[in-house]
Amino acid sequence: EGSAGLGSASELVSQMQRDAITAHTQQRLSELRALKEQERGIQTRAAELEKEMGVREEGRRSAEATGGRRPTHRRAVPIALAGTQCAVLAAASFVGTQRAVAAFAQYDPVVANKTLILNLTVAAGVGACALLVVSTAILFSVAWKEGCGVKFNTPVTFYRCDGVGPTCCKNGPHNSGYAAKFVYLSNGRGFETRQKDCMRRHLLVSKKCRELRPVVVYPKEEGWEWW
Ligand SMILES: [Zn+2]
Ligand SMILES: [Zn+2]
Repeated sequence: EGSAGLGSASELVSQMQRDAITAHTQQRLSELRALKEQERGIQTRAAELEKEMGVREEGRRSAEATGGRRPTHRRAVPIALAGTQCAVLAAASFVGTQRAVAAFAQYDPVVANKTLILNLTVAAGVGACALLVVSTAILFSVAWKEGCGVKFNTPVTFYRCDGVGPTCCKNGPHNSGYAAKFVYLSNGRGFETRQKDCMRRHLLVSKKCRELRPVVVYPKEEGWEWW
């Protein structure tokens, strides 16, 4: 009876070993399968990337064939001058509103809705003044940033499309009106921006355009100045 018990025990052990081997094999198999899957994913991505690079290369060549200008330089001094002009206008609109209100308040003949007109005058004056103050702040901060960029030779990234889309920049970069300063190609096409998001929106409007590799520019190399 003892030997029979021993026999079934060894049987049990070998069964457990077999089970363990099967489990291990299955584990290895599923690992291999996952690895294969991963590999396939990488290959797909690599193929996509290659295709995209090909498209970009094609775009780059067509843009080069057209020819165009260097990335836009925003001069700090003229922007600061515009900011000063804006500040002067803000002050003038403030004083002007005050004067208009004072003059109207002293206006003797009773006018219907005098309070209403006064309120409207004040509201319009305050609105115009606030707008000018905001513009002043923006202009000065841009001028400061551009000036610092030139001083410290900070690289600037420009996003450009290849201008191949037939509607490229016809109605402006993203249907917001045509302006020559947005385009860099000599055929009046090719959108250029410092904002990645602007490029994204341009590509939504001009669907045939393709984005080129961003151009990184160093102010010193470009010979940028403050004015
Ligand atoms: Zn374009
Ligand atoms: Zn934009």
